[in-house]
Amino acid sequence: MTKTEDKMIIVGGGIGGLAAALAAAEAGQKTTVLEQAPEFGEIGAGIQMGPNAMAVLDRFGVGKEIEKIAVFPKRLVLKDTFTGEELSALDLGEEFKEKYGFPYIVLHRSDLHFALLDACEKSPLVNLITDQHIEKIEETTDGVVAIKASGEKVVGKALIGADGLWSKTRAYFSDDKAICAEYVAYRGTIPISEISDDANMDMDDVIMWIGPNHHVVQYPVRRGELYNQVVVFKSLNYKEDSDDWGTPEEMDQVFEGAHPLVEKALSFIERQIRWPMYDREPIDNWTKGNICLLGDAAHPMLQYLAQGGGQALEDASYLADVLKKHGKNYEAAFKAFQEERIPRTARVQRNARVWGEIIHAEDPTSILLRDTIFKQRDAKDFSQVDWIYGQKYGQGSKKITK
Ligand SMILES: Cc1cc2nc3c(=O)[nH]c(=O)nc-3n(C[C@H](O)[C@H](O)[C@H](O)COP(=O)(O)OP(=O)(O)OC[C@H]3O[C@@H](n4cnc5c(N)ncnc54)[C@H](O)[C@@H]3O)c2cc1C
Repeated sequence: MTKTEDKMIIVGGGIGGLAAALAAAEAGQKTTVLEQAPEFGEIGAGIQMGPNAMAVLDRFGVGKEIEKIAVFPKRLVLKDTFTGEELSALDLGEEFKEKYGFPYIVLHRSDLHFALLDACEKSPLVNLITDQHIEKIEETTDGVVAIKASGEKVVGKALIGADGLWSKTRAYFSDDKAICAEYVAYRGTIPISEISDDANMDMDDVIMWIGPNHHVVQYPVRRGELYNQVVVFKSLNYKEDSDDWGTPEEMDQVFEGAHPLVEKALSFIERQIRWPMYDREPIDNWTKGNICLLGDAAHPMLQYLAQGGGQALEDASYLADVLKKHGKNYEAAFKAFQEERIPRTARVQRNARVWGEIIHAEDPTSILLRDTIFKQRDAKDFSQVDWIYGQKYGQGSKKITK
């Protein structure tokens, strides 16, 4: 019989899985990260990290490296897709940083992923393995087992499912299905030189152009060398179990008559890959025995609050706290983990949907009311975002009570 090694298995080596490995290492525990892809990596697009996420990156010792390659936007700005009018802004300057303890940054996903991967590779407690597609997980009398399609088994004492939206490990807890929002995204980065000669381009801010059933996000990444763009819209041709909806042709129709800067964004957008948008309903249990979910596997959300990765990082930070407190009593650690994290992440999941409805409003009365409220906001009024950025699981900022 195979002897169960004294280690935790982490299924999935995305932001969540790698951060979970760093969390376990901080608690002095060994992990093996099993990633299905032939190489660890991320797609070629940008990611926003709020101060709640930055607190965690700082805790795991990668904050400074990330700050070297990130961009520090001055404001988050909402603009009307058609008129170009600025509707609202959030000032990310000194007051914001002072209040939340960390800056708001934007960076290339692969830069973030690489920084986490590098920290994992430097840790003697983290073992990283690629080409490991896990089909099924099980508990055994003295631990857990992750089973590949070939039937090959990897055994350990505990297991964290960090395998994303289409998680196989989630099936151990729930038979729920991912819910398609009927929106698609097209995204990618282009060299900044392609657009920076346009005097009308605003390189200091994260810009979100909004309009009925669509939005476009733009910001520079990688020290300002690349420009990230995401175009998102609701398809009127959605068909379940089909890829024939949300096409580039439909995108062009949706944005007909848009402001010239939005038209320009569309002219540079990568049209080959479309990303249908999904989330799931929050569930009230992520753990059983020595098995637990984390990141998108536990709480996949729509990206409208730019918090999915941030919540995966918060998960990892709190995981470090519970592992330090409960040691190898995984059952107790994972119970305490989910008791803290489920309410928080469910709130973010639900609010992401609501924010989507607000920015995508299509009825003229709702748009008028929304824009009137938006325009009255002070850019330094942080009351609406306090619940997101004000929660800290980073270095020394949160003590566990459970
Ligand atoms: C358009 C868009 C924009 C976004 N913008 C932001 C943003 O600005 N800020 C932010 O914080 N979040 C953002 N998000 C959300 C963020 O990308 C996710 O929440 C985050 O990537 C989740 O990380 P994860 O590690 O939990 O899952 P994933 O990133 O999905 O990683 C899962 C990993 O598990 C591997 N895997 C999957 N199945 C298996 C298996 N069976 N066996 C082994 N390995 C497996 C995968 O290959 C992958 O490496 C955005 C999402 C989208 C779609």
